[in-house]
Amino acid sequence: MASARCPHCNDSYVSLPDQFHNRLQCAMCGKMFVAEIRDGRARTVSPATFVLDPPAGIDSQLASNLREASACFNVGAYKATVVMARRFLEALLDQRGFKGRTLFERIRAADAAGAVSELQFGLARSTRILGNYGAHYSDDELAQIGADEAELVLNMVRQIMKSIVK
Ligand SMILES: [Zn+2]
Repeated sequence: MASARCPHCNDSYVSLPDQFHNRLQCAMCGKMFVAEIRDGRARTVSPATFVLDPPAGIDSQLASNLREASACFNVGAYKATVVMARRFLEALLDQRGFKGRTLFERIRAADAAGAVSELQFGLARSTRILGNYGAHYSDDELAQIGADEAELVLNMVRQIMKSIVK
């Protein structure tokens, strides 16, 4: 067995197989890092960072929300990530003329106009955080958000943004 130490808190070791290269979440501080183990030795251990660059042509308020969403993710603030990512997407869709009362209605309007792909729409519909609930999420729903869900939402934002901002 090999081990790697969390590069964020420097306080937590995780046991890993002798050959390993993947993302991990620290059990102590909850932040993500990438460990590469070869032949039983840790070769690289680095904080995992999610970079989401605002495309040219979106206004500065939107760009700042987007940057903040990935900044939150990178420090392990997953609920805040989702709140900022949703706010970003809601405003982006609205500005591009895709109207609706909820985020999901706006995504549906974009789908109806052919602005997002079938796949993106299907994913958005099946994702609890973007899909089937009302305009305001409850504390309960936010309480269940972890690294995986926050990353899923950021990836969906990336996809939808690519389709909509040309
Ligand atoms: Zn840690």
